[in-house]
Amino acid sequence: MRTGIGFDTHRLVEGRKLILGGVDIPHETGLLGHSDADVLTHAVMDALLGAVADGDIGRHFPDTDPKWAGADSVALLRAVVARLAAGGWRVGNVDATVLAERPKLLPHIPAMRGRLAEAMGVPVGAVSVKATTVEGLGAIGRREGISAMAVATVLPIG
Ligand code: MG
Repeated sequence: MRTGIGFDTHRLVEGRKLILGGVDIPHETGLLGHSDADVLTHAVMDALLGAVADGDIGRHFPDTDPKWAGADSVALLRAVVARLAAGGWRVGNVDATVLAERPKLLPHIPAMRGRLAEAMGVPVGAVSVKATTVEGLGAIGRREGISAMAVATVLPIG
């Protein structure tokens, strides 16, 4: 078994959708980025790539490449899982935490877990998503952005 860590941050701005874990969450601001800026899915992808020492999402899906403009990050996650499989690895489990002052994410967590689990081809019980505020401190506390961190394990196929 191997393990990896991922971390990501995106800025919150008006006029963008807020997509977290592949779920469209109603909110007055959304995350800014080249892709859909799904910070949670990005952290999960980096944890998986890290587990197999295969670089990071910036290397595989560079934000200078128009191909990834507006990309659905869950589709990119599927591509990462396919990359792992080609190397003989499957996802074991994922544990992630989203740091966001607003909106309240608890009602959306089951849907996020379901989408991520489906994309990775694992049972929903293998995917943990947690959310915390930062008690109003710093940039996240001022609702200027959202961060996410994730840990993943991968197992040899077969
Ligand atoms: Mg990102």
